[in-house]
Amino acid sequence: MDLHYKSTRDSNVNVTASQAILAGLAPDGGLFVPNYIPSLDVSLDELKSMDYQQTAYAVMKQFLTDFTEEELKDCIEKAYDDKFDTESIAPLVKIDNTYYLELFHGATIAFKDMALSILPHLLTTAAKKNQADNEIVILTATSGDTGKAAMAGFADVEGTRIIVFYPKDGVSKVQKLQMTTQKGNNVDVVAIHGNFDNAQSGVKAMFEDRELAKELNGKGIQFSSANSINIGRLIPQVAYYVYACAKLLENGEIKEGEKIDVVVPTGNFGNILAAYYAKKMGLPIDKLVCASNENKVLFDFLKTGTYDKNREFVLTSSPSMDILISSNLERLIYLITGEDSEKTKALMEALKQNGRYEISDDMYEKLSDITGGYATEEQTADEIKRVYEKTGYVIDTHTAVASYVCNKTCSDDKKCIIASTASPYKFVKSVMTAIDKKYTDADEFALLETLCEISKTQMPQAIKDILDAEIIHTAECDVDKMKETVKNILSL
Ligand SMILES: *Cc1c(COP(=O)(O)O)cnc(C)c1O
Repeated sequence: MDLHYKSTRDSNVNVTASQAILAGLAPDGGLFVPNYIPSLDVSLDELKSMDYQQTAYAVMKQFLTDFTEEELKDCIEKAYDDKFDTESIAPLVKIDNTYYLELFHGATIAFKDMALSILPHLLTTAAKKNQADNEIVILTATSGDTGKAAMAGFADVEGTRIIVFYPKDGVSKVQKLQMTTQKGNNVDVVAIHGNFDNAQSGVKAMFEDRELAKELNGKGIQFSSANSINIGRLIPQVAYYVYACAKLLENGEIKEGEKIDVVVPTGNFGNILAAYYAKKMGLPIDKLVCASNENKVLFDFLKTGTYDKNREFVLTSSPSMDILISSNLERLIYLITGEDSEKTKALMEALKQNGRYEISDDMYEKLSDITGGYATEEQTADEIKRVYEKTGYVIDTHTAVASYVCNKTCSDDKKCIIASTASPYKFVKSVMTAIDKKYTDADEFALLETLCEISKTQMPQAIKDILDAEIIHTAECDVDKMKETVKNILSL
């Protein structure tokens, strides 16, 4: 069967992978999904000897079927190069019988680099393939990490511009500096007076705004998305789960066919959905564990079958997971409705209207391979301290949420991989205070040195880069002025 992409809200949509990447979001507001999840055409035993780039190719070629081998390999080579500070790109580190899959060795030291270092190449290749000569404007809402990773990926990429919105008071000091010091002629960054959900809803509204699209088209401009709603972000993420499983086999940590669990610190549900796709491709994954912070809307959903975002939004020490509307969940909902686009659409409408929806018993049963857990702020901090004191390994706040959940829910007789999504340097204040309260009043920048010392690791280049960089971006706007702001930036 030919692999193509349809919309979660309209099964009759039929576009190629490159068209789906170019558009970002389907015209009906749905998300693009493959009409089936392909299997790997190589065994884990064969994957053992592959490096990261080869693994990425083996995975991505199954999904991005209208890219030629040359195009895809070219994108992969440009993405996974010495921007990463380790040749293995995504090292799997064994600490005390748990495996931390370190996804933070790219340019901005968070896992978003895994996909956003390749997305610009996929997107410009897709534009060429489809003879699209409009300028592509990447419109992005960020809870802190996507924004910087997208800007780093798209800065000065010909034929593109990028505009990023972030919640003014919802990101760490390092995250904010990373964004406000970003160089590039095609880059704009705006702080909004609101939270991440406001930013994401505002961006989504602009995507769905037909008038605006017409106006843009008249000027030779079109929007695309670098958020994880873009299938071009999701697919590259499948690769590292395949890579990690192959490494476990290579190192004799598992036997052929032995099942493992995967725990993922979750916000927008992109990373864990990639793990789910990896499982469906044939990886020996048993349980997928969705780990939440105090914004535990997903935990409650997995427990009760009711998704309800009507609750207080909590600012936590793991800000990249401070999300109440997990947009990628729509792709899972679509699968568990039995790929029923009408049903999916109705549920998403209910979410938009009432902030909640309830799934049927049939659907709930299909969620049996995904379980949820969560960690409170105190548990997260305690977990950082526990792991450090026991092993000397320092994890960041997001990873700590997953690590806590893993420690609590995973059984000892099954191997478990934890997706380690950010470097502790990025959230140094929370991390150091968790290890010792005496750092509470210390200067964040001074703590970076202390972290080097206690963790016996080197200061990442991404941190060195911002220490004396000039602040370039100071724009701010109200939540209801996002469209106006974009029009101003684009001189419409
Ligand atoms: C984005 C992010 C997450 C959440 O990932 P999703 O794909 O949105 O679920 C977790 N940790 C960090 C550090 C992130 O940047």
